[in-house]
Amino acid sequence: MEKDISKILITEKEIQEKVKEMGKIISLDYKGKEVLLICVLRGSIMFTADLMRHITVPVIVDTIAVSSYGDQTKSSGVVRLLKDLDEDITNKHVLIVEDIVDSGLTLKYLRKVLQQRRPASIKVCTLLNKQERRVHDASPDYYGFIIPDEFVVGYGLDYDEHYRQLPFIGILDSKIYKD
Ligand code: 5GP
Repeated sequence: MEKDISKILITEKEIQEKVKEMGKIISLDYKGKEVLLICVLRGSIMFTADLMRHITVPVIVDTIAVSSYGDQTKSSGVVRLLKDLDEDITNKHVLIVEDIVDSGLTLKYLRKVLQQRRPASIKVCTLLNKQERRVHDASPDYYGFIIPDEFVVGYGLDYDEHYRQLPFIGILDSKIYKD
């Protein structure tokens, strides 16, 4: 599996340090409040699990699943809701936890859909930020790393449902998806 990675972009140690730092900042920002973490399936599983361990205010976790990818490495431009939340988010402090924000389409959709349910607040936290690819007016409130326009896998991110278990973020060798 690791032979399919052309370059390790962010090491396991770098991720863990950054996630700890993000958890500290979020804990300070939400002091005295309870935060409802929304894990965006499936890519944010690892990030959410690690991040919540570093949040010291009370936390509730829920999951949502959306799909925006038409083929496996390019967004289709249309977002579909695949699995809705179980919790009622009215008057709750919602923090959407994303693995990566690329064009911003998914984020824009999620914010819009969740805002209609009248939460007390809504913010977005992403581990990776492909800032140069942003075309939609959507920016995260917290991000871990700005990354270049490369297709990455690992730490929850997949290609065709594989590579999610890698503990680092790596650039997938283009021969894997261009053949
Ligand atoms: P956006 O809607 O911002 O264009 O894309 C967000 C979604 O696209 C992410 O949640 C993720 O599922 C997928 N995505 C974007 N870039 C990458 C990437 O480099 N690698 C992987 N595995 N998924 C990506």
